[in-house]
Amino acid sequence: MSLTQTIKEKALDLGFVGVGVATPEPFILYAEELNGRLQMYAWGKTLSQNTSVRDLDLTRFVDPARFLPEVKSLIVVTDSYFEEDFPPSLAGKIGRCYLKGLFCPEESPHSRRRKEFKKFLQGLGMKVLYGPAPARMAGARAGVTNYGKNCFAFANEAVGQSSWVVNEPYLVDRELDPDLPTLQVGCPENCQQCIEACPTGALYAPLKMDPRKCIAFHSYFNDGEIPRDLRPKMGTWVYGCDLCQEGCPRNKKWLGKTKTMNQALMERAEHLQVTTLLTMSQEHYAQKVWPLLYYIRKENRKLWQRNAAVALGNQGDPDTIPFLITALKDPEPIVRGHVAWALGRIGGSRARKALEKGRKLEQVEKVRGEMEKALAWGLD
Ligand code: SF4
Ligand code: SF4
Repeated sequence: MSLTQTIKEKALDLGFVGVGVATPEPFILYAEELNGRLQMYAWGKTLSQNTSVRDLDLTRFVDPARFLPEVKSLIVVTDSYFEEDFPPSLAGKIGRCYLKGLFCPEESPHSRRRKEFKKFLQGLGMKVLYGPAPARMAGARAGVTNYGKNCFAFANEAVGQSSWVVNEPYLVDRELDPDLPTLQVGCPENCQQCIEACPTGALYAPLKMDPRKCIAFHSYFNDGEIPRDLRPKMGTWVYGCDLCQEGCPRNKKWLGKTKTMNQALMERAEHLQVTTLLTMSQEHYAQKVWPLLYYIRKENRKLWQRNAAVALGNQGDPDTIPFLITALKDPEPIVRGHVAWALGRIGGSRARKALEKGRKLEQVEKVRGEMEKALAWGLD
């Protein structure tokens, strides 16, 4: 068996759903695309200052040799995050890939197989570097995925050829047998349901997405106010957004397939309910939420509460008003401001009374302004 074949068999044995090999030349198309709209990605360069992820200067990933000068091949494995079903109570609230904890600080089958695969490659005498390449384009070059107009990578063979997958490149200093690239869009010519499904216009053309308008971006990378015009468009999403994948006909078959329930997540779901997130303690956040959903810093619980307030406002269920009234007394102005917006959006006499009372006590002008705007909607 060839070395390439041995490596591929190992990857599949470990549970990856796809594996391919790509040549390591610079990703020129990727560089051209980025350079055409650098302003959309400038935020990535200082990301670690506000969040608990590393800086994301995408322009650094153009040339794999920048990270491993001896690079000869890219091995790209594909991992699936939708083999099991997700708790229905979290649907439309937290994105599936985050719930599956693909890269979270907790140990998971995903992190275990990643480590084991790296160890295996090193055991073959290779110099190995995990990660630094544009994952979707590397996957297409390695023949494991193709593109959707929604910018996602779609598996060529696995998981019903859907986009519920991630690609993970490993740079190695060994020449392996490259696969035939599948750098193409696999969508029906006239389809643009993903673009129509995107509530914010972030996905503005085939293969073009402006992250600064994306619900997912605002849910975890915006550490300030959610822009008022965006709030109603966020629906009930508190972390991530799956709409441009859910609305895609290429994903429908896998979405509708009967799967076993992820029991561990089912047990965890009660800790992630939106009303719980709105009023959670720091202890709850640090122990029950952050280890799985970690992009927002541990000290920024208030951003989760902010998101939960917006989600409840959009959900519009008067039964959640008592939770919002409790959160209207939160010490963080950003929480109170978004709660005021949510109460205004839900409306009714209980919401109005709480806002009138809150306005009298409120010391922060900006929050008082949110309360006044909410009251001006005429809530009865
Ligand atoms: S994740 Fe949501 S907001 Fe972002 S592009 Fe997709 S549909 Fe639009
Ligand atoms: S919704 Fe249509 S255009 Fe968008 S990714 Fe799916 S198949 Fe392609």
